Amino acid sequence: MDDYQLSGDFCPECGSLIQWADCTEQHCDDGYIRLHELAPDWYDEDDLEVCNSCHGTGIREWCSNCGCNYSSYLASLARLAFGGEANADG
Ligand SMILES: [Zn+2]
Ligand SMILES: [Zn+2]
Repeated sequence: MDDYQLSGDFCPECGSLIQWADCTEQHCDDGYIRLHELAPDWYDEDDLEVCNSCHGTGIREWCSNCGCNYSSYLASLARLAFGGEANADG
């Protein structure tokens, strides 16, 4: 049984309630992966990478009806807000 809670937001696709749960990514720490813990020889201690599952939020959010990934939706909105060209890595 999944342990989740309702977020109070509504799905952009179908209007159903969004539910959320803590990110279950193994190395995710409040939304960021500590690269140093994965590969100490390759990364400095404060090298972080945004978690692909929760997009830096530390929680995963999805629609309780259609199952769309609300975390990704929010992340795409954030990219637009940053004035974003699609080129992430310049
Ligand atoms: Zn995560
Ligand atoms: Zn939906």
